[in-house]
Amino acid sequence: MLRYDGTVYRGEGAGEPEGAAFCPRCYEETGRRVRLQTELAVSRMGAVQRWHCPVCGGRYPVSPQLADD
Ligand SMILES: [Zn+2]
Repeated sequence: MLRYDGTVYRGEGAGEPEGAAFCPRCYEETGRRVRLQTELAVSRMGAVQRWHCPVCGGRYPVSPQLADD
């Protein structure tokens, strides 16, 4: 199953790849689980990692792993 972490969906539970992130736009609009890729974006703040969806082209900040509730 997938759990929304505030930015992207995360695989959670048996059979899910560890640390996998899925595009929230694709999942919510089409139900497709599209694995996000990481890319480096260079800004004035330096290089930051972000998620990139190869299907819809969406980009999302890489958030620190949230603590379990
Ligand atoms: Zn997408």
